[in-house]
Amino acid sequence: MLDPAAFVTTPAPGRTCGTCTLCCKVYEVPAVPKPMGRWCQHCLPGRGCGIHETRPDHCRAFHCFWMTTDFLGPEWKPERSKFVLTVDPVTRFLLAQVDPGAPGAWKQPPFYRQFKDWAARGASEGRHVVVFVNRSATLVLPDRDVPVGTIEDGERLVVKPLPTGGFDVHKAAT
Ligand code: SF4
Ligand code: SF4
Repeated sequence: MLDPAAFVTTPAPGRTCGTCTLCCKVYEVPAVPKPMGRWCQHCLPGRGCGIHETRPDHCRAFHCFWMTTDFLGPEWKPERSKFVLTVDPVTRFLLAQVDPGAPGAWKQPPFYRQFKDWAARGASEGRHVVVFVNRSATLVLPDRDVPVGTIEDGERLVVKPLPTGGFDVHKAAT
């Protein structure tokens, strides 16, 4: 869900949305309102927001990870990759919200290998990679992908290292 309190961010120099509108499809935006996984009724896909001047603050405040960083190449722009990246401000998990029209996009090269690399580098610090298709989540670990089912409003994913190695993965109330 787009939460302006969580995702107020500033675009990196030179980054613009241009013809990308994918965040207007993949997220639930209660302020419109719109459900996740379907184009907003105000969206002009490939062109922008049809109510740009009066769009909700939720939309105004949001910039995805591609927009706020300068190190991801053009293939990572959501209109090309078919997923929108964010970093959860509380858990620091890297979240990928995938276009349900292309649910396997995150497994394509070069993305999947990079997700695995981020998973390996972040695991020891508890910064995990979680991929969503609508509410259905997959935890990406260095050596395997763990389907964890749907994450509903009011739930969060908890990933704890086990003394014997590996991780305990479960859902908890927020
Ligand atoms: S997904 Fe990112 S680049 Fe695309 S429209 Fe939204 S903020 Fe802009
Ligand atoms: S109101 Fe505009 S910016 Fe917000 S989700 Fe709809 S099309 Fe996108």
